[in-house]
Amino acid sequence: MNEFYEQNIVLIGAGIMSATLAILLKLFDPTLKIEIIESLDFAAAESSNALNNAGTGHAALCELNYTPQCKNGSINIEKAININTMFEVSKQFWSYLIQDGKLNCKFINKIQHISFCNGIADTNYLEHRYISLKNHHCFSDIEFTRNKKTITDWAPLIMDGRNINELVAATRFQQGTDIDYGELTQQLLKTFKQYSNSNIFYNQNVIEIKKEINGYWRLIVECKKFEYNRNIIASLVFIGAGGGSLPLLQKSGIPEGKLFAGFPISGQWLKCDDKELVKRHKAKVYSKASVNAPPMSMPHLDTRIVNGKSSLIFGPFAGFSTKFLKNGSLLDLPRSLRFSTILPILYVAINNIDLIKYLIKQLIQTNNQRIKVLRKFYPNAIKEDWRLEVAGQRVQIIKKDYNQGGILLFGTELVLAKDRSLAALLGASPGASISVSIMLQLIEHCFKEKFNTFEWKNRLKEIIPFNAYNLANNKNSMKIIRKKNNEILNIL
Ligand SMILES: Cc1cc2nc3c(=O)[nH]c(=O)nc-3n(C[C@H](O)[C@H](O)[C@H](O)COP(=O)(O)OP(=O)(O)OC[C@H]3O[C@@H](n4cnc5c(N)ncnc54)[C@H](O)[C@@H]3O)c2cc1C
Repeated sequence: MNEFYEQNIVLIGAGIMSATLAILLKLFDPTLKIEIIESLDFAAAESSNALNNAGTGHAALCELNYTPQCKNGSINIEKAININTMFEVSKQFWSYLIQDGKLNCKFINKIQHISFCNGIADTNYLEHRYISLKNHHCFSDIEFTRNKKTITDWAPLIMDGRNINELVAATRFQQGTDIDYGELTQQLLKTFKQYSNSNIFYNQNVIEIKKEINGYWRLIVECKKFEYNRNIIASLVFIGAGGGSLPLLQKSGIPEGKLFAGFPISGQWLKCDDKELVKRHKAKVYSKASVNAPPMSMPHLDTRIVNGKSSLIFGPFAGFSTKFLKNGSLLDLPRSLRFSTILPILYVAINNIDLIKYLIKQLIQTNNQRIKVLRKFYPNAIKEDWRLEVAGQRVQIIKKDYNQGGILLFGTELVLAKDRSLAALLGASPGASISVSIMLQLIEHCFKEKFNTFEWKNRLKEIIPFNAYNLANNKNSMKIIRKKNNEILNIL
């Protein structure tokens, strides 16, 4: 049986990105017809699921890859400011929804964000980073110490059993967060369903996406339970399919999508539920990635709070599978290979031999070796307290580059069709933390005329009074809005 009907806006995937976009659009115009298509039987089951990601509210407080050291020794804090202010935009959106009774703050918890380093070079780097960040109003609350007793007070497990002669240093922000993005997605989608013209279809897999000559998109959707396909006609499509976005983007055939290839890296955590240990570590502690390791492999020991229950995770460790999604197919990688992207992939492979060696080492790592890595963080770790869990699947993005052949991208990449009828989201962190800013970029592009009207501009000001640019450049705006957001989100 074939169904055929027209729907204005189709969002593929029920993760944090589609959920955020759906609510933003409804806040701008409640009459828009929006349909979300999800291949699994519930929302946020892939990367947005609580334990498939690290749950860090990325605000560049502790993640050292956002503050690289330049050749002249100075610290570049530009990326850190961008991420910090975009995270504050997300907080404004969530606060607005809480005040409007559309969300509750169960998804977010206050947890200190600590960076920890050892050795001369890394502790000196951390001190330089502290001085650079302290001078910017976004980061003025940062604390720095080389004092072992202070670090023990902040995060006792890190210092337990550590050699007393070791040179160590740490920075701390007390107002960091742990976020259950799965809970947030569920809450957003519950609110979305309360609007008219809003539908979510589960167990429906988008298998084809083609542009019609009349300018509309035709989507072929496999309805798994009922074993039939249906067609949907859409004027605007958002591919928010996580690891599944790349193959759909390729199928759409838009020129902007032809620049991308990807290869999957699965993540693994060591997880601990021991009540005594969990009680003794109340922080997210990030350190430096080892030499040649990609930024997303930066090790961290985190408190996670899911459904009110706390646990610890350490990682991530890389794993390998040719699947693009945890629930994907082993054929995902071979099927994504295109003649036009073979060269960029080869360039990336040749230019990143060290990275490849690092990944191979990760793949053949035994559990004992993983515990050894954990002991660099928490010297007294006992193997029996920790078990290995599989995290979400990342698709590492490779972009065709006319100068360098191909480049490896580590962030979150929004691909926008020039004719404004399609957008896709690729990549991983800081993804979920900055979902609101990314979805606003999409709306600004795809709804260009409406976005510039007095009505939409006013609405945006009501929801998000200060954009990232204002916050980066205006100390007072940041101070006022951060205090207000933290009060509403209960993370003061
Ligand atoms: C190991 C790891 C750690 C991370 N840590 C953090 C962190 O600490 N902080 C942070 O902010 N971000 C983190 N991220 C990134 C964050 O998880 C992602 O940016 C975010 O969850 C992406 O959301 P999404 O909605 O785009 O994708 P997803 O949550 O993956 O949702 C995509 C949905 O699309 C569905 N789908 C796929 N294909 C189809 C199809 N053909 N038809 C219909 N439906 C389809 C899937 O079933 C899925 O439900 C991490 C990611 C990983 C993998």
